[in-house]
Amino acid sequence: MTVAICPGSFDPATTGHMDIIIRASRIYEKVIVGVADNPQKRSLFSLDERVEMIKEALPESKNVDVEAFDSLLVSLAHKHKASVIIRGLRAVSDFEHEFQMAQLNRKLSPEVETIFMMASPEYAYLSSSAVREIAQYGGSVKGLVPPNIVEPLTRVFQSKEV
Ligand code: ADP
Repeated sequence: MTVAICPGSFDPATTGHMDIIIRASRIYEKVIVGVADNPQKRSLFSLDERVEMIKEALPESKNVDVEAFDSLLVSLAHKHKASVIIRGLRAVSDFEHEFQMAQLNRKLSPEVETIFMMASPEYAYLSSSAVREIAQYGGSVKGLVPPNIVEPLTRVFQSKEV
């Protein structure tokens, strides 16, 4: 059984993230969505919120699990006996960072392969930071994030303004 990890901050998950997760679940027998607890990145949503929102957004699926992690990515891969890390690539601008991460992970754990999936063209312009900014200034995030995330994302900025 090939297990793949889809790691990220998912702050919040966008329709572009969900597209990558679902496409990966059609290829690999098991997909673990690893939600990173990165203390260096101040997140808008708590780790638990990010995990729960992805779980809710996923269609009924037996082969996708979502879990938080606060370790090295390769440690999460070892824990699940995963041989693949999936990363989405949007534009050339993603490449440099992704290249470095893939090389470092290969150095740490050569048996875990990083596989890049091209973003679907309809989502290639989407990022968590862009949807956060749109929501912050009162724009509609419908279609940019899964339907269950529209309300929490809108509300989080309204409550911050009070
Ligand atoms: P990180 O902080 O690890 O970069 P992100 O949550 O920003 O986490 O992204 C997780 C993964 O999803 C990365 O591989 C990123 O390139 C990919 N990704 C982000 N947005 C999109 C998108 N719109 N389409 C495809 N892949 C995406």
